[in-house]
Amino acid sequence: MVTHETTVIRIQKAPMYCEGCESITPHFSLIEAISALSLPEEEIRRLAEIGEIHNSAGTDGSLQLCGRSAASISHGYLGGHT
Ligand SMILES: [Zn+2]
Repeated sequence: MVTHETTVIRIQKAPMYCEGCESITPHFSLIEAISALSLPEEEIRRLAEIGEIHNSAGTDGSLQLCGRSAASISHGYLGGHT
């Protein structure tokens, strides 16, 4: 018996209203932001805390990070500036 199992990796970039951007932007969970930005969790949390990455609480209370502001952070990190 063959079970055809398709593993679908769903990255839930749920569009949400971002107060920082004043528009609807894709949002990442903390886990997704860690892998997308290649930064440690504590750094992501710090950036969220100081508002460098816009954030809001999801419907389940989880931390949702604004993809647009996260992208500008990643440019800073990947741009070779130290
Ligand atoms: Zn934003």
